[in-house]
Amino acid sequence: MVETRLPRNPQPKEWLAKDHSLQYIADYKPFNFVDGEGVRCSLYVSGCLFNCPGCYNKAAQNFHYGQPYTQELEDQIIADLSQSYVQGLTLLGGEPFLNTQVCLKLVKRVRKEFGHEKDIWSWSGYTWEELMKESDDKLELLHYLDILVDGRFLLAKKDLTLQFRGSSNQRIIDVPKSLQQGKVVIWDKLVH
Ligand code: SF4
Repeated sequence: MVETRLPRNPQPKEWLAKDHSLQYIADYKPFNFVDGEGVRCSLYVSGCLFNCPGCYNKAAQNFHYGQPYTQELEDQIIADLSQSYVQGLTLLGGEPFLNTQVCLKLVKRVRKEFGHEKDIWSWSGYTWEELMKESDDKLELLHYLDILVDGRFLLAKKDLTLQFRGSSNQRIIDVPKSLQQGKVVIWDKLVH
């Protein structure tokens, strides 16, 4: 059967981390090469409400999937990031912006320990334009990022050849430049 359903479209501030997040972690993958530029440590948070058909990580749509986030895991992530060959941290899910309690705690620690020596990437089902109208916690998290890969996964726009993205509507956004210029600025190392 052909899938005709589309991802869900929330109103601004309709979905809030405080109402949904259980602060669970679906997975943690240190030292990988696929979740952004360079060698990365990736945290997969649990819970997402977008319900995109064809979601790459359907199990992690459940806010109760996996394990609770712990101080021990955070300390391990910081120890792994301290390796000189690791470029940075990646947040994925699930939906990082519906798990801001966990993600904000971690990104603040990363900036405290490493400043901007390590970069921070995040994926989100929210688009940049949607995040601009979102709750304070989501905007705060955005301000800690270097790169945002934005937007739902759309089966109709699926393209497996794209760099770091599953569908062609998604963008790799340079967050500091976009905030500074008040408009989306695409990552200048984008290949395709
Ligand atoms: S936004 Fe990402 S994690 Fe959420 S349902 Fe869509 S593809 Fe899955």
